[in-house]
Formats: sequence, C-alpha cells, structure tokens
Amino acid sequence: MSSAFTSPLAEELAEDVLERFLRYVRIDTQSAYGSETAPSTPKQLELSRLLVSELEEIGLDGVRMDDHGYVYALLAGAEGVDPIGLIAHVDTSPDVTGTNVQPQVLRAWDGSRIELPADSSQVLDPDEHPALAERVGHDLVTTDGTTLLGADDKAGVAEIMAAIAYLKRNGDGRHAPVHVCFTTDEEIGAGADHLDIEEFGARYAYTFDGSGLGEIETETFNAVRVGVTIRGSAVHPGSAKGKLVNSVKLAAEFLASLPRDGLSPETTEEREGFVHPTTVRGSAEETHIDLIVRDHDAAKLEEHLALVRRLADEIADREPRARVQVDAEEQYRNMREVIDRHPEVVAAAEEAVRRAGAEPVPAIIRGGTDGARLSHRGLPTPNIFTGGQEYHSRREWASVQDMAAAAATAVELARVWAERG
Ligand SMILES: [Zn+2]
Repeated sequence: MSSAFTSPLAEELAEDVLERFLRYVRIDTQSAYGSETAPSTPKQLELSRLLVSELEEIGLDGVRMDDHGYVYALLAGAEGVDPIGLIAHVDTSPDVTGTNVQPQVLRAWDGSRIELPADSSQVLDPDEHPALAERVGHDLVTTDGTTLLGADDKAGVAEIMAAIAYLKRNGDGRHAPVHVCFTTDEEIGAGADHLDIEEFGARYAYTFDGSGLGEIETETFNAVRVGVTIRGSAVHPGSAKGKLVNSVKLAAEFLASLPRDGLSPETTEEREGFVHPTTVRGSAEETHIDLIVRDHDAAKLEEHLALVRRLADEIADREPRARVQVDAEEQYRNMREVIDRHPEVVAAAEEAVRRAGAEPVPAIIRGGTDGARLSHRGLPTPNIFTGGQEYHSRREWASVQDMAAAAATAVELARVWAERG
C-alpha cells in the first residue's frame, strides 16, 4: 500500500475497505428498467444477503433484510444523541453490464496511460481525465474493460461497512447511534422508495453515493417526466388524400421545435437546466414522446414546462384534426430547500471531511439521489463522496486512498454528532 492517505484513520481503514469492495463488485447486482418486481432483479438480493451476514458478524443490532432487499442494521451509540443514518445502494446501472466484473488493483500508480487488459480500446488517459492525473501514487481499482466497476455504489457500501466495523471494534461508544440502510434499485430511480423513515429511526442521514474526494452534495435537480401524445388519423395511404393525419410527422415537427443551442443536456452544465426528449415511439395513428425536464431552480423548471406545453399547443394549432396531450409527473425535487433549513447537517459533514484529512468541496448534482426524496419526506440527506469516478462506464475507476478517506469521513460523522449531543 502506498502513501497519499489523507489521515492515519483513512490508512487504517484502507485494506478493509478495499477487501470488501473487491468482494462486492464481483457480485452482479445490475437493476433493470420496466420490471414488475421490487427489487427489479433478484440478483441484487445476493449482495443484500451477504451484507446481512457480514453485519451480523460485525455484531450490529436489528440486522434484517426486507421484502425489497433493503438491508437494515443499528450500531448503538452514546445515549441522548440523535441517531444518524448512513445509506448506500447495492445495485449498478442498467446501462452497462455488471456480469463477471474483474477488478484489478494498480498499486502506487505511476501516472502512465492505463490500457484495460481485456479490451485495449478502453483506455484511462490522465491527459483526458484531470481527476485521474491528480492521483499519481494512489492505488487504483479499474475493470478489465468489459464491464462497469460498480464503485457506484459499492464503494459507498464498502466504506459504510468498514466504518461501522471500525466503530464497533473500537467500542468506546463515543459516537452517535448509526442506522445503516442499503437500498436496491437506486439506478432505476426507485431507491429509497420503500424506506420507512419512522422505522429507520435516523434523525439525519447521509448517502455515500458521490464521487471526488471531499465532495458534499446538497443540491439536486428538480425533475419532471413529461409525456407528449399526438393522435392523428391513419388511413390506407392509397386513399389517404385529404384524410390522413400522420402523427409521426407532427411528432417530428414538435421535436424539431425544441431548443438546441441551450436547454439541452448536450449544451448545458452546472446550474443550467434542460428539456430532453428520451424516447419516441409510434405510428401514423398515434405517436408518444417521453421527455425529462430538469432545473435546480423550481421557478425555471416551471418555465421549461410551459415551453413544452406551448410547443405542443403550436402543433395542435397547426393541425386542428390532431389531438395533442401533455402529461407531466414529478420525479423528485431539489433537496436544497430542505437541507438549507438544517445547516447543522452540512456543517457536521464538513467537519467530518476535515477530520478525515480532506478539504470539503460543496458540489451540485446534475441529477438526483435517494437523498432528494428522503429530504422532502422529512429526512435531510446530503450526499457524500465515495472516491469512485467515471460512473456508468467501462472505464469506471476508484482510488483506494479516496475510498479510505470516505470511510474515515463516515467514522468521523458519527463522532462529530456525538460531540454535538
Ligand atoms: Zn449511485
């Protein structure tokens, strides 16, 4: 193991984090869209079951797995102290295969290009990835190039496991009670759906599902899913003159009218929102367009929604024989408005990151987290870094030193909250 550790505690935790991480990523836990069951894939339960047995081995209380594959456990702590929650998800992205993950560990990486062993077209190039270039001397974990790694979010799982094992082992009790929850199906937007906040018992919580060292994320998008349905009128093309109303062409007009230079994922960054068509399916009779609409600012999100409705109306105006319907459904809201009312939650995270030897980095998420919905359901839940990078790709990698810093942050969080009473 090389140096580059942020603190002695991080160094002490590193081997346990790495060992657990390598064990967890080998288990295929890919979730799937469009499944009728929860969890969406039964294979997620394999990791959940392993975590149950490891938590029992560590000696936590109330270890159990529910019907959805969520795993719960309690590490008792100092009396009279608000219990905190630590949360991570076991599933990996449906976008890239997670079957037969073969992690490799590059000890004390020398800074040269990394060609992944089973597919030389997959290259980690420090010239292209500044975060990688900054980690010369770190121990890196990569894939063989044929799968994702699953640091999202098995790094988070391994860090929480190593942290509570450490706290339990040290047994001084000078930390907050810690409720642990590992969820399923986060990657398909259903993580934490079945987390009963009352029963969970934590007053504040943290997801360990972020990325770069020191990052504390307190802001997500506001997110709405929009369906635009255009109904035309199909007629045999041989006798269609004056009768056919082709919804496919009307859908094409609608799509062509959407903004391109801005308000699109491919042309925006940071706090800029967007309107993004994700799928189109249909025929002359009826065409359906799915869009996602995103903005950190709730008022701007309403403007984007109004724009979508206006563009849909224009199609209907131009072709009165067509029927155009717009349905909007909220997915999640920016967690910032909730977290802003509980500044102590972020202050504790910043203090914990500092004690772990890193610099707190406030960051925003161009997406959502389990914490977004938990926050709005009454459990303020910022998101903490894990040390994983290039998520949802075959070039996903993680720094052992950064993962160890995240585990140390989890330990320090429990201590900071005990000091605050
Ligand atoms: Zn994640």
